[in-house]
Amino acid sequence: MSHKYVYLFSEGNGKMRELLGGKGANLAEMTVLGMPVPQGFTISTEACTQYYKDGREINADIQAEIYEYLAKMEKISGKKFADPTNPLLVSVRSGARASMPGMMDTILNLGLNDTVVEGLAKLTNSPRFAYDSYRRFVQMFSDVVMELSKTEFEKIIEAKKQEKGVKMDTELDADDMKDLVKKFKAFYKAQKGEDFPTEPKVQLMEAVKAVFRSWDNPRANVYRRMNEIPYDWGTAVNVQAMVFGNSGDKSGTGVAFTRNPATGEKALFGEYLINAQGEDVVAGIRTPFPISHLQQDMPEVYNQFAEIANNLEKHYTDMQDMEFTIENGKLYMLQTRNGKRTAAAALKVAVDLVDEGMITEEEAVLRVEPKQLDSLLHPQFDATAIKKAKAIGKGLAASPGAACGRVVFSAEDAKEWHDKGEKIVLVRLETSPEDIEGMAVAQGILTVRGGMTSHAAVVARGMGTCCVSGCGEIVVDYDAKKFTLAGQTIKEGDYISIDGSTGNIYAEAIPTAAAKISGDFDRFMKWADAARKLEVYTNADTPKDAKQGRDFGAQGIGLCRTEHMFFEGQRIKAMREMIVAKTTEEREKALVKLTPFQQGDFEGIYEVMEGRPVIIRFLDPPLHEFLPTKEEDIKEIAGELNITVADLKNVIASLHEFNPMMGHRGCRLAVSYPEIARMQTTAVINAAIAVNKKHPEFKTEPRIMIPLVGEQKELKFVKDIVTETADKIIKEAGVSLRYEVGTMIEIPRAALTADDIAKEAEFFSFGTNDLTQMTFGFSRDDAGKFLNYYYENKIYESDPFAHLDQNGVGKLVKMAVELGRKTRPEIHLGICGEHGGDPTSVEFCHNVGLNYVSCSPFRVPIARLAAAQAAVKEKRAK
Ligand code: PEP
Ligand code: MG
Repeated sequence: MSHKYVYLFSEGNGKMRELLGGKGANLAEMTVLGMPVPQGFTISTEACTQYYKDGREINADIQAEIYEYLAKMEKISGKKFADPTNPLLVSVRSGARASMPGMMDTILNLGLNDTVVEGLAKLTNSPRFAYDSYRRFVQMFSDVVMELSKTEFEKIIEAKKQEKGVKMDTELDADDMKDLVKKFKAFYKAQKGEDFPTEPKVQLMEAVKAVFRSWDNPRANVYRRMNEIPYDWGTAVNVQAMVFGNSGDKSGTGVAFTRNPATGEKALFGEYLINAQGEDVVAGIRTPFPISHLQQDMPEVYNQFAEIANNLEKHYTDMQDMEFTIENGKLYMLQTRNGKRTAAAALKVAVDLVDEGMITEEEAVLRVEPKQLDSLLHPQFDATAIKKAKAIGKGLAASPGAACGRVVFSAEDAKEWHDKGEKIVLVRLETSPEDIEGMAVAQGILTVRGGMTSHAAVVARGMGTCCVSGCGEIVVDYDAKKFTLAGQTIKEGDYISIDGSTGNIYAEAIPTAAAKISGDFDRFMKWADAARKLEVYTNADTPKDAKQGRDFGAQGIGLCRTEHMFFEGQRIKAMREMIVAKTTEEREKALVKLTPFQQGDFEGIYEVMEGRPVIIRFLDPPLHEFLPTKEEDIKEIAGELNITVADLKNVIASLHEFNPMMGHRGCRLAVSYPEIARMQTTAVINAAIAVNKKHPEFKTEPRIMIPLVGEQKELKFVKDIVTETADKIIKEAGVSLRYEVGTMIEIPRAALTADDIAKEAEFFSFGTNDLTQMTFGFSRDDAGKFLNYYYENKIYESDPFAHLDQNGVGKLVKMAVELGRKTRPEIHLGICGEHGGDPTSVEFCHNVGLNYVSCSPFRVPIARLAAAQAAVKEKRAK
């Protein structure tokens, strides 16, 4: 038998999401559960992959299979495609493995043409309904399949409404709808140079192709990159019998969650529209009723829906996000999936489900996206400032948090202003997937239209970006780049503030304050900590950062970049004196001035860390970074340093490098100027002795880390300077102090010779920023300029500086872990590059057996959770 690409809903189940996509698998599961699901079939993700393999064509075998299943569907429904006396109409919807809201396009009412619509009008005795369905189909098909701009169609509708003097689409009658169809088709012909396709089978195949094609549209690519969804997964296509929410006052359509997706509160939450089709709710064109209202409107339907919702939640043991349609008083379920939710809601739902006995603590750990925690850690308005501020309007509190920024009105402007370093709030009538990049860079999003399940609300919540939606009083003028609200005019560039937790809008800049974490958080994170094996450290250069890291649960400092301590006031001067020194004695003199500063910083950090591991990295950047570049600064600094301008310029010229990142930096500085390593060792050891004297209970044991090592002898050279200096100080102080000397593995050669390096190094910390740079041969400062071309051409799917390249850089890490442990089985291994706070990279670190990850303070909770999930997943895979 040839490969099977198409499945009836009744042939699948909820576990088949890789093949059927999330939507298809859940439609199959609901079918298995006996719920009222309009029947249909799913064209698998493998068919999508095959479509791309075949050069963006659906091959003859798959086409034949689709038609075979269409015939099966006709049999099941008792209706016939293209038959005006008993027409089968279908929806065509995408459904990838991971839900991609708004990314993929939907076509409803497919199967209509001039003949079928007449049949439908007769059958339903409602020409208005039939022509409303038809005009929607022509509109959606033209937009989604044929890529004609939907705004043009909206303009035609708008003109019609004005002509009739009405406001709502529902006020247009059958003849108006008929006229719209005519106008739409004329527009189509004018644009495309051919008639609108009338053959339903052709429409179907074109629609399926369009869904496959949409997997590769720029919005989908951006979304996938943001969410690390692999390109080769492909999307499935669901072809489902239509039920009509637009067939009168006993019909409607809606979206609902089993719990509140913003707060996690346990109660049905959602909205619906009477006499409408799905698009109307999501697009936010009409303002819907809350779901509770349905209890009065149609009590029986409401009760049935509430029962189904409850059963689905129990079945999936998670909060569900459901789409339903009511056709002449009969309920149909069109979709269910685990609902997207805010971080606060995710925590509450996970904790509540444990308390309700639905899931275990270990399972709960898997229920919160690590990256989502970010939004809990994001700013809120300063409490006193917000009390004084006066809101000028209110919309829906669609996605919590506080945002303050300058107003822009398009995604393009958002990007442009953001690139200039501005904080912006994106104001739109409503958002659509094209706006995704603009939304991603905005502090906040404000929309005029749309409910809690509109595109803006769903996407912003997913991003953890503050969003206020549906503020209908706003009048936007895109052309003039301004809006008015409560009598005030706000122009592009003006500051506004919006509160995604209350929906308030302020025509002023309100300062924001750091986030506070809720009670659920601590309880939940305790479960995560109990599950994880990796330790989580923080990268911190100051006592303040160390404290922040500790507050977020860091168990140590994995990277203290000492150079950051040399930039302030007196320090930079001493540093510069050291750099311009002509002799070792002069250099040592300058270094002596730096020692107390550095020692003081280390003492502060040790005290905050109370004996926990502190890894201090010796000076790393090329020295020219400490010298001025502008003419006026050079003059001033030459004066300060008491040397001539010419002398300083000579020093600067002598430090010039063609490739500073591969130049005189890292341990190469200590090899050339051992006195620098001596000074830093002195500060590290003296600080530890001082703190241990004050706090013997801490038992501080410093760890000194030598950067940019590529050769064992090089490390030994620097280590000898360190141990000689340290041992002397310890002896003279008459104390006992344990300390360690280790290295960063950030040069491919260090990874390749890690067995040799481990003879000297007592610990390794993978500096994956440099290791990525040097493995790819991409400058970490310049790669941004060309990586976009690599994404566009599908050479790379994500930024290797953000997500560890597991196949290449990861292979080096794995090799170094194995080689290092061969030499020194107890060697302590960690990572301190940016990847240490990236969830998928953390999972990799767990899998290769590192002891810890280290990341910036605000990412510590994310790393803790990612580490826990990696451990749970590994346990379950066994
Ligand atoms: C690294 O290279 O990964 C690292 C942590 O060091 P830096 O970013 O300071 O070069
Ligand atoms: Mg580095």
